[in-house]
Amino acid sequence: MTLPLAIDLDPRYHGRLVDIETPKDIPDYWKGTPVENLLLAQNFNKKIDAAGKPELLIATCIEFRYALPIPSMYAYVIRRASCRLIGSEFSLAYVLSRGVDYVAMIGHNDCGMTKVPEAAPSMAEALVKEGWHRDRAEEFIRYQAARYTMEDELSALEHEYIRLRRLFKRVHFAPLFVCLADQRLYIPKWFHDRMLSGKDDITDSKEPDVRDEELLTLM
Ligand SMILES: [Zn+2]
Repeated sequence: MTLPLAIDLDPRYHGRLVDIETPKDIPDYWKGTPVENLLLAQNFNKKIDAAGKPELLIATCIEFRYALPIPSMYAYVIRRASCRLIGSEFSLAYVLSRGVDYVAMIGHNDCGMTKVPEAAPSMAEALVKEGWHRDRAEEFIRYQAARYTMEDELSALEHEYIRLRRLFKRVHFAPLFVCLADQRLYIPKWFHDRMLSGKDDITDSKEPDVRDEELLTLM
């Protein structure tokens, strides 16, 4: 499998991400937090000194072309297709009970969850080969596909950010985006603008619509 285009060459992402080219580009709102250490490690190869206690939860996609730059004894990690945490709220509750105050949500370009309709037949076939009844396999994939499919990785990340902010109001969420071609983290512009404007209020009427019944959808 080849790597996708670098995101600065891909028109889908033009003007939608904030680059962090030098450590000075790390925004003030993440200075002195575990998110800054993650950005320094990923973009500038600065080794993270594990504190011996969990400082961060990192939620990212199952994507095999991306490896996290973290040592043991530093962060909890939840990897799920698309990086969204729908169905993992119990894990999140556990992590929060361990004293974690920051959650990095790392989306990425060329995510397989933007291609679920093409992948669905072979996914159902894989389940049939595992011994599932064909009808059951197809129904399962059809049902789950509706939940996992996304058209655009950055919009899906924003949608999930709003959903999680509504469910978990105290913890700090840090939406980030990794470019698979250069393995560097970027900040979604929609989030950066919110933070700079001081208007990170999720009750803002201009927010993307997240229906209440979508807030907590357990498996
Ligand atoms: Zn993915």
